[in-house]
Order: sequence, then structure tokens, then C-alpha cells
Amino acid sequence: MAMADARQLPGPSFDTWAWQLVGACRDQDSELFFHPEGERGSRASSREAAAKAICAGCPVLAECAAHALSVHEPYGVWGGMSERDREEIFVGERRPAAAARAVFASPVAVAVG
Ligand code: SF4
Repeated sequence: MAMADARQLPGPSFDTWAWQLVGACRDQDSELFFHPEGERGSRASSREAAAKAICAGCPVLAECAAHALSVHEPYGVWGGMSERDREEIFVGERRPAAAARAVFASPVAVAVG
């Protein structure tokens, strides 16, 4: 089971977490932001779109998105991003490093460089 990276979580400072008190989702049903077991297809897309629409008008969208990315939140819509949206960002961040390792590990790169 995936979990947020607790080492990346900020300490228990009110200032650090205060943005959550004014999130537009505060009075919304959390099931709109976190998928039920086994949800797929158009039902998942519709729920995520509805959650993202709420995020779009949220005054702390930037803070929420930064938090979700910094701790690798594995579940739910955060900062206007779904789990899949965040995973695509993380995969994109890993690609340059993976590509660099592949280049430096190849015999051609060693011979040239
Ligand atoms: S950006 Fe979305 S998930 Fe984050 S606090 Fe605002 S409404 Fe909630």
C-alpha cells in the first residue's frame, strides 16, 4: 500500500498547515476527493472532474499542490491534481535521471566520454 512520504511532512507548526483551514474542499464530502474502492472509468473521471472544479476556485490551490507534490501524496485529488496527474509529474522527474544513467552505463558513452 502506498503512503505519503512521512519524512517529507513538515513539522506540527500551525503556520505550515494553516492553508488547510481555508481550502474550498473543507465543507465538501471527502468522497468527492478520494475514490471509493474499485472505482473505474467514467465514474472516476466524473468524480475527479468535479473535485478539480472545486480546486480551481480554491484560494490555497498553490499551497495544496505544493504540499501534495512535496510529500508524494499517493491518494486523492490535491491542488487540482489527481493521483494519475501527480504520478505523471513524478515519472517525468525520474526520466532525466534514468536517461542519464542509461547513457553513462552504455559502452559507447564510456568510450566517448
Ligand atoms: S486545492 Fe483542492 S484539495 Fe486543495 S485545499 Fe483547495 S479545494 Fe481542497
